[in-house]
Amino acid sequence: MSELPQERRLVSAVPGPKSEELLARMRATVAGGISVTLPVFVTRAGGGVVEDVDGNRLIDFGSGIAVTSVGNSAPAVVRRATEQLADFTHTCVMITPYEEYVEVAERLAELTPGDHPKKSALFNSGAEAVENAVKIARAYTKRPAVVVFEHGYHGRTNLTMALTAKNMPYKDGFGPFAPEVYRVPLAYGYRWLTGPEHAAEEAAAAAIDVITKQIGADHVAAIVIEPIAGEGGFIEPAKGFLPRIARFARDNGIVFVADEIQTGFCRTGQWFACEDEGIVPDLITTAKGIAGGLPLAAVTGRAEIMDAAHAGGLGGTYGGNPVACAAALGAIETMKELDLPAKARRIGEIMTPRLRAMQEKFPVIGEVRGRGAMIAVELVEPGTKEPNPAVTSAVAKACHAAGLIVLTCGTYGNVLRFLPPLVIGEDLLNEGLDIVEEAFAGL
Ligand SMILES: *Cc1c(COP(=O)(O)O)cnc(C)c1O
Repeated sequence: MSELPQERRLVSAVPGPKSEELLARMRATVAGGISVTLPVFVTRAGGGVVEDVDGNRLIDFGSGIAVTSVGNSAPAVVRRATEQLADFTHTCVMITPYEEYVEVAERLAELTPGDHPKKSALFNSGAEAVENAVKIARAYTKRPAVVVFEHGYHGRTNLTMALTAKNMPYKDGFGPFAPEVYRVPLAYGYRWLTGPEHAAEEAAAAAIDVITKQIGADHVAAIVIEPIAGEGGFIEPAKGFLPRIARFARDNGIVFVADEIQTGFCRTGQWFACEDEGIVPDLITTAKGIAGGLPLAAVTGRAEIMDAAHAGGLGGTYGGNPVACAAALGAIETMKELDLPAKARRIGEIMTPRLRAMQEKFPVIGEVRGRGAMIAVELVEPGTKEPNPAVTSAVAKACHAAGLIVLTCGTYGNVLRFLPPLVIGEDLLNEGLDIVEEAFAGL
């Protein structure tokens, strides 16, 4: 592990004077559309700690949005990426390929759900992977339509903005959006009107009704879904919903695409969140945790579907860059060696009961949910389910001031989400939870 001491240390306000100075420079020269959750400027990070220019050490419950699951600068990532940097940095796989790209595709074929023949294509970002999954599904089915879900998040490019549910901040003013995208209900148990026990069956029926009656199932190329909605609020669809949708897709020749960009690579306590209900997606998109912080993304799936796009139809200058591929091989090696699925489950076992105990004490906590190290609390007006974004940002701010990096999310901006690096020490994890508890107590 990194030599960075694994302890919280506050030596100035958060942000401190040097960060404030850098923030002023940033405001002067960086586009205003790039927002900042917590303006401390980072100099080092590793394990469960982020160190800033003022010398503060913060506990990391964000992992740069579920990216550094293996920890920042994980030794195997650094070693493999460094060796690769010295050997060569780029040739473009479409010009003269290299083994690292092939090896990443081999690992993806082994690790993703299902034992059918699989192939992969590599890209730079999650959004690019999702776009390519849609291209591949359209080429395979020769159909135009794409079905997505309420609360879904799939990226910020033109097609993925259309796939994403939430207007502000992701879409507002950025249209017109790509056509042939249809949104259907998600089994959001906590907010399902007839109660969580009915959510799976009723939401699946409603979704299938829209597909068959409004779109026509034989016009649908792909159904794209996050097994746990990430940006939308860490919404785990009620059990039984995903299998119903997957079965409907299979019965109607629709490509079932699992967007595991946030949930994948050990985050939820399994290699992929689909495994929880035994779902075998036709295509799976991955990014974020895949390469320990370097930009890499993938579409992996059934060989016959992946081969539907003609030669030259997929790719890009940098997709599957050799340094990013080497980093991914280091990250995957680390996940196996340290058994990070088990670490993620352990994190959930520590966090969930503590957050449930807070829910007993603080009536603004409406629900505690999530799996493994993808855990959230949804905040409401006490005694109701009315979303409470004001309290959500107040708690997040209090945590930041105390040296804990936490993120918010949710269609209603009322979800506090926890995504610690899977290698975080249990002492730091508990200290972070103490800070969360103090933040609620101080409301
Ligand atoms: C983050 C995310 C994306 C977009 O990934 P980028 O790398 O930011 O383009 C797509 N889908 C899901 C589920 C995500 O969490």
